[in-house]
Amino acid sequence: MDRSARAAGIAAAILRLARAAEAGERAAVQAAGFTPAQAAALRFAAKTRPDVATPGHLARVLGVRHATAVGIVNPLVDRGLIERRPHPFDRRQSVLALTPAGREAWARLERWSSGLEAALETLGPGELDAFEAAIAKVVAEQVRAGRLVVSAPCAGCVHFRPGAHPGSGRPHDCALIGRALGEAEAAMECPEHTPA
Ligand code: SF4
Repeated sequence: MDRSARAAGIAAAILRLARAAEAGERAAVQAAGFTPAQAAALRFAAKTRPDVATPGHLARVLGVRHATAVGIVNPLVDRGLIERRPHPFDRRQSVLALTPAGREAWARLERWSSGLEAALETLGPGELDAFEAAIAKVVAEQVRAGRLVVSAPCAGCVHFRPGAHPGSGRPHDCALIGRALGEAEAAMECPEHTPA
């Protein structure tokens, strides 16, 4: 079989896995009283660095229009799970943050399982490493091609300058936003992460 036929077969298998995982996710989050999009919004507010947790970035991560992202967030605001706060550096924007009730809801949701974990556990250590590396490479290509936005911590980002400010409380630097970052900030997810 030639490489393009193999790639098409693997792409079809990934799509089938994604549908199965999505069905597993839907069942788990619906049982908790959320839609998958609402669960993704809660995750975004929980994991994203506070200064980039804007509705605009949520829209990019979800792959939806800005108005759609706002429509996903509003019921969570009404339920007292997410709040809009002033942006720390840009008065024109607001950021999304979990309320204490939102943090509790996310802590319950975070334990959901798509069912894929059990299948992946059947792989041997070498197989798991190779699968993880291959998936990461494919995802990075999709990010580079602009077809996918994946929030990730600073490590491995082309803009990351680790240790640029030695001896400082904010030892790292981001060349994209031109700002020093502390350890905790650099460890949080950023929707601007661009694989190096
Ligand atoms: S763009 Fe990259 S280096 Fe800058 S904050 Fe985001 S992940 Fe970190």
